Amino acid sequence: MPRSQAVARRNRSAREQLAWLLRFAGEDLDEWRPGDWLNAREELKERDLLRGVTGEPSEAALREMQASLCDFLDRIEKRRADDGGSGKGLDYRLPLSGTAIVAADPQDRLLRIAYVPAAKDLAPAILFRLADLLTRIELSRLRRCRECKRFFLATKRQLFDTPQCAARYHTRLFRKKNRRSQIAGSRRVRRTTS
Ligand SMILES: [Zn+2]
Repeated sequence: MPRSQAVARRNRSAREQLAWLLRFAGEDLDEWRPGDWLNAREELKERDLLRGVTGEPSEAALREMQASLCDFLDRIEKRRADDGGSGKGLDYRLPLSGTAIVAADPQDRLLRIAYVPAAKDLAPAILFRLADLLTRIELSRLRRCRECKRFFLATKRQLFDTPQCAARYHTRLFRKKNRRSQIAGSRRVRRTTS
């Protein structure tokens, strides 16, 4: 495979990983059924996000992973607010103990580096990966959907993570406006009849 193709493939898989992690961070896990947990484990595996983690991640491990992803994303979102104009921005410390593995498949023309926590726990490994992925994008692309408040990776001026969310938002806005004009209308009617 020529290098440019290898780079394109690597970038694509990084984009998929980032999109998956952002979506997972916004999931309501209390609503999840057994099939959803199975799918999540499968998808993590498919996207090569379980490198260096022992065994199948438990429900508790996935919940812990979500909590740490959300905390991290919130901190990034609030970085400007925390900053208070001092120009400090974000300074997130991620204490590490474990091994960094630099690897390449025999056919691969690119090196990859992964962090494997000493305890082989899921949450710190994934948090490190998310931080790594976020260093590759313009941070203005990391946005929260106006409708469902989930984080997503925006292209250009995109405000909603899915077309469904855009539709829901605009329907509600339309109804609200409609209601307001109806109320105004009924007031006018009342005034004229009294
Ligand atoms: Zn949404």
